[in-house]
Amino acid sequence: GALCDDAMTLGERLRHALILPYRQHCASLALSASLGIACAPLHGREPEALLRAANLATLEAKASGRDALRAFDPALLERAERRDRLREAFVEALRAGELELHVQPQFDRRTGKLDGGEALIRWNSKRLARWVPPPEILAAAGEAGLLPELDLWVLRTAAALQKSWLGVPGAPPRLGINISSVTLHDPRFAGQLRAVLEEHALPPEALEIEIPEDLAVRDLPGVARTMGAIHEIGVPLALDDFGAGHSNLTHVVNLPVQRLKLDRCNVSLLPDDPKAYAILRTTMAMARSMGIEVIAEGVETEAQAEALERLGCHVIQGWLMARAMPPAELLRQFAPGPAQVAAG
Ligand code: C2E
Ligand code: CA
Ligand code: CA
Repeated sequence: GALCDDAMTLGERLRHALILPYRQHCASLALSASLGIACAPLHGREPEALLRAANLATLEAKASGRDALRAFDPALLERAERRDRLREAFVEALRAGELELHVQPQFDRRTGKLDGGEALIRWNSKRLARWVPPPEILAAAGEAGLLPELDLWVLRTAAALQKSWLGVPGAPPRLGINISSVTLHDPRFAGQLRAVLEEHALPPEALEIEIPEDLAVRDLPGVARTMGAIHEIGVPLALDDFGAGHSNLTHVVNLPVQRLKLDRCNVSLLPDDPKAYAILRTTMAMARSMGIEVIAEGVETEAQAEALERLGCHVIQGWLMARAMPPAELLRQFAPGPAQVAAG
């Protein structure tokens, strides 16, 4: 009501006072301020309830970008409770072994053969009684501070899987894994990777590590060390979601990557969109001149696959061929029958 309107006006004035550029000697510092507002008795009568409401409003203000002002809203509390439940369920699931790693196959159109796969996390939560989509899983892991644990679980599970597939005819020779930004900044990761490979006596080329292009470009100094260490171990690096952001092709020159994964935003515009063609043609030319392989993801139609072939991109991944599936299912569908038994 009126009381909260006053608080909002005051908050707005406060925000403007705070964001005036701060100057000392020659350096000028631009500040930003996010404010959350809760009013009694509208948003709570007890101090704790009021503080929690103000805190949630502030988090919301921060999440909506810099320089925002937000009043509390009961929907925020519902969302926070939902997040709490998700986070608790995730912690339990990670411990209880409820997470699964599915694999989406990648094909080389020239040979018609399976060329590799991408490991993708899947979680059918008993407690929540639903499949939780990966972005929600990652958010829950992030809030619980468990992203490094999750990434390590993915790495271990993928390595064990590749070990069990070594020498199995038709099995994907290379399995790509996704690693979160936190882990890419973690100086322990390269050591863990080396240890996991040794533990399974796995050649480094059995895995591939996917790094989102925007992360690599935005924060090169932050991830360069880990990327260099991974490269030294011999595990191939792929730049994921390439072309999704405002990519600068020249950055790639400085990165030790073996593959580009064309993001599906451009792939989905094929075969008709001239701009997507132009972007992909340039990307292909650059990759070729640098000796970098290219794979397209999110290929959903034969027309897209053909357009990609004309562009010189022969390795593809997408629902046109297959979705991510349990590893055993993948072998059943794509590896010749009796061999799987023989491999044990
Ligand atoms: P991503 O790395 O770009 O993974 C590709 C996503 O595209 C997957 O979604 C996949 O199921 C989906 N996809 C594959 N083919 C097609 C297609 O033809 N059409 C369309 N529309 N979509 C297709 P998913 O599995 O939901 O994963 C979403 C994101 O979550 C991934 O994007 C990745 O960033 C993250 N993620 C998934 N698994 C893991 C994991 O194990 N660890 C980490 N750190 N991140 C993961
Ligand atoms: Ca990926
Ligand atoms: Ca991707």
